[in-house]
Amino acid sequence: MRIGFGYDIHALIPGRPLILGGVTVPFEKGLLGHSDADVLCHAVSDALLGAAALGDIGEHFPDTDPKYKDCLSLDLLCQVAEMVRKAGYIIVNIDTVIIAEAPKLSKHKKLMADTITQVLHLDQGKVSVKATTHEKFDSTGRGEAVAVYAVALLNEKGV
Ligand code: MG
Repeated sequence: MRIGFGYDIHALIPGRPLILGGVTVPFEKGLLGHSDADVLCHAVSDALLGAAALGDIGEHFPDTDPKYKDCLSLDLLCQVAEMVRKAGYIIVNIDTVIIAEAPKLSKHKKLMADTITQVLHLDQGKVSVKATTHEKFDSTGRGEAVAVYAVALLNEKGV
């Protein structure tokens, strides 16, 4: 068994779509970034890469590369899962927590978890998406950013 940890944060600004786990959440602001800034996919990608000791998404998909401008981070997550599998691991489970003051994410969490489950070809119940506010503290609490913590557990194939 190998565990991995991922964290990411992106600024919330007007004029961008809010995409979390490949799901577009209706809101007046969205996340700023070179890609679609899907902070949930980024944190999960780093948790998976970390568990396999394969570096981080910044190394594999540099934000200086025009190829990744406005790209779908869900696609990058698929590529990461492929790297992890090629390295000889199976994904056991993924757990996440999104920190956002607004919008309320309770009714979108299941679709995010289902979307990630589907694109990674995992069984139902292997991906968990939780959400919390930051009680008005710091950048996430003031609604200036959305942050995500993620952990992933891998198993060596055949074990
Ligand atoms: Mg990011």
